[in-house]
Amino acid sequence: PVINTELKEEQLTEPFFEREKGILIVISGPSCAGKGSVCKIICRKNPDLRLSISETTRQPRNSEKHGREYFYISKESFEERIKKGQYLEYATVYENYYGTPKDYVENLLESGFDVILEIDIQGAAKVRTNYKEGIYIFIVPPSMQELRRRIEERGTESKEQMEMRLNCAYEEMKNADDYSYIVINDDLNDAAQRVQSIITAEKCRTERLKNKIEDILGR
Ligand code: 5GP
Repeated sequence: PVINTELKEEQLTEPFFEREKGILIVISGPSCAGKGSVCKIICRKNPDLRLSISETTRQPRNSEKHGREYFYISKESFEERIKKGQYLEYATVYENYYGTPKDYVENLLESGFDVILEIDIQGAAKVRTNYKEGIYIFIVPPSMQELRRRIEERGTESKEQMEMRLNCAYEEMKNADDYSYIVINDDLNDAAQRVQSIITAEKCRTERLKNKIEDILGR
């Protein structure tokens, strides 16, 4: 058959591809594995990617700013927001509450932005029940010795808190196989590159793109 390759009227006036709903990317891993730094690098390179800013009851560290790393709120406000169902997920991590604001993330996804959640393994397990099509990535340090070195070097926690984070890291690492991808952060830029490649490949999966074939065929 002769294939008609002339564009239809609507293809001339409307964007060729409709903007699809964004993809949810969940990144977990032990404290100081480098999740935050990896997320910053890939967000800088991807204008369609947004990092969700969580709310927490923990105190800000010296260099942190309200609204940049987290929204720092009181325990009472957090519990009020739990009651109102305003979190996509929340968890108690190292004795503080941490939660993902529901409306913020859902609105971004609806508007076609891909959203990264940098959350702990409990939060990721909850999100997985509602977002099976999300991308789940676990970032790990190259060794526990290196993890200890990084936690000590950051120096923002007391000795007791550092030990607690190391012990939790040890336990958390056992959950790596709940994730679809593991990225070993031996070098920050390499690790960011690998996370970027995972996202790029995932966006090309057949199940995400099969509707586009219809668009290309002009049907
Ligand atoms: P940090 O106190 O070092 O900033 O974070 C402690 C842990 O809490 C990290 O594993 C981080 O990924 C996790 N976390 C941060 N925000 C959230 C959140 O909104 N929900 C959950 N479940 N975990 C979070």
